[in-house]
Amino acid sequence: MLEELTSLTNILIIISIILNITIIVMISKGKSAGSQNTGVPTEKVNTTFTQKSGIEVGVVFCRNCGQQYESTSKACPNCKTARGA
Ligand SMILES: [Zn+2]
Repeated sequence: MLEELTSLTNILIIISIILNITIIVMISKGKSAGSQNTGVPTEKVNTTFTQKSGIEVGVVFCRNCGQQYESTSKACPNCKTARGA
C-alpha cells in the first residue's frame, strides 16, 4: 500500500517536472522566434490595404436607396447618389 502511494507521488512529480520543462522550452522557443522576427516585415503589412491615405476602406450604405457598396466608390452604383453629399 505504501509502495503504491510513493509510486503515485513519484509519477505526479515526474509529470509536473515534464510539464515544467515543456513550458520552459515553449517560452524559450517563443522568445527566440520573436527575436528572429524583429526587423523582418511580417504579414501585418497587409493591413495597409485598409488604410488608404487615412481613409478606411469599408462598406457604406446609400442614403437615398440604402444600397450597400464599397466606400472607395464615390457614388452609389444603384441610384448614382454621391456619397457624403
Ligand atoms: Zn443609392
